[in-house]
Formats: sequence, structure tokens, C-alpha cells
Amino acid sequence: MTGKQAYSFYNRTSGENVRLVLNYRSDKEQKEQIINDYLNFEPEKLFKVTKTKIEFPEKARLFKSYKCEKCGEITASNYIRIQEDKKVCIDCFNNYNRFKV
Ligand SMILES: [Zn+2]
Repeated sequence: MTGKQAYSFYNRTSGENVRLVLNYRSDKEQKEQIINDYLNFEPEKLFKVTKTKIEFPEKARLFKSYKCEKCGEITASNYIRIQEDKKVCIDCFNNYNRFKV
């Protein structure tokens, strides 16, 4: 998360990877004009292409989902916190950390 429009792709079977960094910024103002601008740009000039900088990520795990008992939104269990004996999502969680550790 560096604020760049950079996208990393991996092929688990072959081990190949590629990192695409958007190399161009449209100067158009309307959404449709911007999309059209990008679609008509040559892909080789639109992106800087390199190998990925991030290690091959572990295979995605599947987590059980819970309904946040405060906002009602469904959240994966690894993002659930217990607050006042209720399962709550991170958005609703009021962290208690007196020592800022
Ligand atoms: Zn919530």
C-alpha cells in the first residue's frame, strides 16, 4: 500500500509474476472520456512492466463469516473482535489500549 496504481499478478502453477504500474494519467475530466482515453492508449506505454516486489502470497484462506452484532454487516472471522461480549467488525470495534502498545 504505497499510494501507487501498481498491480501484482502471480501464476501459482508456473511461478511467473508480473507487476504493472500505471504510467499515464489522463488529463480528461469526464469519467467516460477518461475510460475512453485509457482504452485507446497502447498497453505497452500505459504500464511499466517489471517483476513483482512482493513475495508470492500464501494461498487465500477461507474464514467463517459472522454478522457484526452492532452494524449487522457480514464480516470474515479474522476481522471479528469481541467487545462487551458481542462479536463486532473492525469498523465498530472501539479499541481499548491504555498503554499504546
Ligand atoms: Zn460492525
